[in-house]
Amino acid sequence: MQHKRILVTGGAGFIGSHLCEKLLEQGNEVICMDNLFTGRKDNIRHLMAHPYFEFIRHDVLESVYVECDQIYNLACPASPIHYQYDPIKTAKTSVIGALHALGLAKRCHARILQASTSEVYGDPEVHPQPETYRGCVNPHGIRSCYDEGKRMAETLFFDYHRQHGVDIKVIRIFNTYGPRMRPDDGRVVSNFIMQALRGEDITIYGDGKQTRSFCYVDDLVDGMIRMMNSRDGFTGPVNLGNPGEFTMLELAELVLKMTGSKSRLVYMPLPEDDPIQRKPVIELAKRELDWEPKVPLAEGLAATIEYFRKQL
Ligand code: NAD
Ligand code: UDP
Repeated sequence: MQHKRILVTGGAGFIGSHLCEKLLEQGNEVICMDNLFTGRKDNIRHLMAHPYFEFIRHDVLESVYVECDQIYNLACPASPIHYQYDPIKTAKTSVIGALHALGLAKRCHARILQASTSEVYGDPEVHPQPETYRGCVNPHGIRSCYDEGKRMAETLFFDYHRQHGVDIKVIRIFNTYGPRMRPDDGRVVSNFIMQALRGEDITIYGDGKQTRSFCYVDDLVDGMIRMMNSRDGFTGPVNLGNPGEFTMLELAELVLKMTGSKSRLVYMPLPEDDPIQRKPVIELAKRELDWEPKVPLAEGLAATIEYFRKQL
């Protein structure tokens, strides 16, 4: 692959830091832009001395000009507790952040990829979810700042493409996990592992029968890079996720078994608008990107548990 200068917004976050690492490994120059709201310098500390790596502390609500060939737009808190902490800022980050990134792509003639989400499907009535499904999203609930923000960002991407010919790529990421998730981010994988390792109660929200599909971060990053470098004219949106579907109870049992923990399961109320089921159709990614996830849940969990053990 040809050497490129690549901007990654949200590059100090969980997924962003793995992406920066991989892009550097492939010989690219990487500019990582992040305001460190949920991202951490620790995630990129090992990259700081790399001659092709540059970190810019910057909030994407302010515009910026940097010369680049490609932009991965990831800046946005992703875990419900973080995106609900300041919902107005979350919506602004998605929408104004996308506008700034698209404006930059237009100016520099850069190709730009949007990290959209399975949340655009809301609490889906179609299962599993193909890209053609338009979703079932509450426009005024506690998840709306994120879901509708990401939906508007997709709209802006396609309008910049139609109106200004910007070279866009849109991926819809399904639940992704792995090392460098924050132990305190409230997401189910980090919560269950931390609770199991500390011998605390495992918090099952609702009856635990709701499902999610969990993709290991290395598989996701591979799919993101393939999408960015996919054929001209293929814009997506394309689902990237692992079609293996698990209930939260199954996940809890697996985490307990793998950690050897004696933690008990406790049941707590299901948060508002929590989707009941979620599983990607990935035929489009298979066909266009020759991509499918390779890491089974147990293998990815083992690496994640190891990471959290070290953090403790
Ligand atoms: P994360 O919270 O670890 O990463 C987001 C990064 O964006 C953080 O480093 C944060 O500091 C930064 N950021 C937030 N607001 C910003 C702002 N205003 N200006 C500059 N930087 C800002 O979350 P993640 O899991 O790594 O998610 C990365 C992207 O992938 C997000 O856009 C998210 O919506 C998307 N996504 C993630 C998942 C998942 O399961 N992890 C699923 C679907 C979509
Ligand atoms: N969940 C849970 N216990 C927890 C954290 C989350 O049962 O301690 C459930 C949550 O209600 C949801 C699923 O796990 O049904 C995934 O939650 P997460 O916040 O990880 O992601 P999202 O809901 O955004 O897919």
